Amino acid sequence: MVVSQFCSDAAVNSLFSYSKSVVDQLCMNYDRPKELRNMQYLIFAGMISYYGFEHIDVITEAYRKNQFIYTKDSLRDCLEKLGCVSRSTLDNLSDDTIAVFLNEHFYNNSTNTMFTEGKLVISDDMNYAPDELLEYVTHEVNHAVNSVKKDIVPFGKKYKTRKGLIISDYNSGEKRNVFMEEAVNTLQTEDIMDHILSFTEYKIEDPEIRYELDKLKYAVGKKHEHRGYPIISSIVKPLFENRKFNYVLKERRIDGNVNFITSEFDAKAGKDSFDTLSRCIDRIQISDDASKDSSESKAKSLIKSYVSR
Ligand SMILES: [Zn+2]
Repeated sequence: MVVSQFCSDAAVNSLFSYSKSVVDQLCMNYDRPKELRNMQYLIFAGMISYYGFEHIDVITEAYRKNQFIYTKDSLRDCLEKLGCVSRSTLDNLSDDTIAVFLNEHFYNNSTNTMFTEGKLVISDDMNYAPDELLEYVTHEVNHAVNSVKKDIVPFGKKYKTRKGLIISDYNSGEKRNVFMEEAVNTLQTEDIMDHILSFTEYKIEDPEIRYELDKLKYAVGKKHEHRGYPIISSIVKPLFENRKFNYVLKERRIDGNVNFITSEFDAKAGKDSFDTLSRCIDRIQISDDASKDSSESKAKSLIKSYVSR
């Protein structure tokens, strides 16, 4: 479902000239790898097309505050060299992961404040097809865009941190909504990719961008196959496609108001339903036992009770 706000070649060309100037400016100031630039022109423009101009500051901030690392090494080797992830994270990394968005939270003892450091690591070690690499990077940029606002929420003397829908307790390390975040991020990425692919239908003046879009069009052929978390995203899809929920999710996740999304769901599906749904999605993604089937039917019935009202 593409609802592009652009109706002429001129409008798309101005969007690209804006995207290019912002990305180039950021690359100049922050030493972004050149290989990534052309891809970022497309992703930046796709994000604006999907979220709308009113969210331009958040999208730009996601680019400004996160470090982009592009490597020809394997992702595992690169993360190991950076030393920013634990042994268990490295061991659990699946071999087909191309890109990852890491946001680490630190406590500054002298100022008694928390701060976030984000890194987007992209490994192009296998010379992936342009549409494949683009979709994986768009997925990670979308996590980053949705983690700019309210990334740290103090409660009492403690802190909670946020990455998209994932709320973590900084002290205990306990996390909520891990795979709900992946499911909705995968579904949004599919829509953003459709926005980007729709740009191939316009007459683009900038030769670099035209080349990038032609490359994409050629790679995709007739149909682009979406990637990500196929099982959980297909379960969440009917909820995602509900007009009201889709709007609330899109606007409140980027604003960092996760509670608002939870309340919207609970108001129709019943008290604590979102939390139950989210736990079911986690179990479907990670467990191998019989609890998987019961979690799946529970998740589907909760979603049905929201969408049928
Ligand atoms: Zn993800």
